[in-house]
Amino acid sequence: MSTIMFVHAHPDDEVTLTAGSMIRAAEEGHRVVVVFATHGEHGEVPADLRPGESLADRRRAEATRAAELAGVAGVHWLGYCDSGMAGWEQNDHAEAFVQAPAAEAAARLAALIADERPDVLVGYDWHGNYGHPDHVRVHQVVRRAAELTDPRPRLFEATMNRDRVREQFRAALAAGTPEAEGFDPDRPMDDGNPLGTPEAEINLQVDVSQQVVRRREVMACHASQVTDIESWLALPLESYAAVFATEHYLEVGSSDSMRSGWFF
Ligand SMILES: [Zn+2]
Repeated sequence: MSTIMFVHAHPDDEVTLTAGSMIRAAEEGHRVVVVFATHGEHGEVPADLRPGESLADRRRAEATRAAELAGVAGVHWLGYCDSGMAGWEQNDHAEAFVQAPAAEAAARLAALIADERPDVLVGYDWHGNYGHPDHVRVHQVVRRAAELTDPRPRLFEATMNRDRVREQFRAALAAGTPEAEGFDPDRPMDDGNPLGTPEAEINLQVDVSQQVVRRREVMACHASQVTDIESWLALPLESYAAVFATEHYLEVGSSDSMRSGWFF
């Protein structure tokens, strides 16, 4: 049995990027741990918040439930505040994750790594797929925390396969799926770069086709974030599986071309 630690910026980022791998690892008997940098304070606010309940409370509860359903053994919070999208005034708030010194955030994460002793650590690619400031910060902080750790876990970075996403959206357009209109992974995202990573630079493709049914249930736990998840959940299972049956990772230090494989 190994331990694998996934680091995410906001609750629900795990269901767009790594939930299939988390479920698969747990099913195989590995200890799966997830770390969230923020509570997603600037996400969508649901109409049914109870008196005294904050969006952070709700998202924390949703992430905890999602983790349980995924078989995750430990959920940790770095305790920072969501920084909002690139250019938002919330970027400047003192508690925002992007305002925290990278060394301080890395030290918090390194302390969790020292407790959990993961064999495999998973962060984000260099621009967090689309340039969200908190995602970029996760990339930096995970790299730095890994450097502070001895023995150093194997380090992977979750990404999106731009070539595959392009094919999927072309197929969806051809099939007349209205949601696919207006999306282009080659177009500049928030940070001016196209989405994710070209396949030629990706090292690992993970097959999580056996996990898609559970994965969808895990996604549904993040019910407050309707806009992000409802169109995915509305897809027939076959179409959902076409998008989420594989997950993609860079292995830090590797220059190998993409293999279909697994972390362990
Ligand atoms: Zn996010």
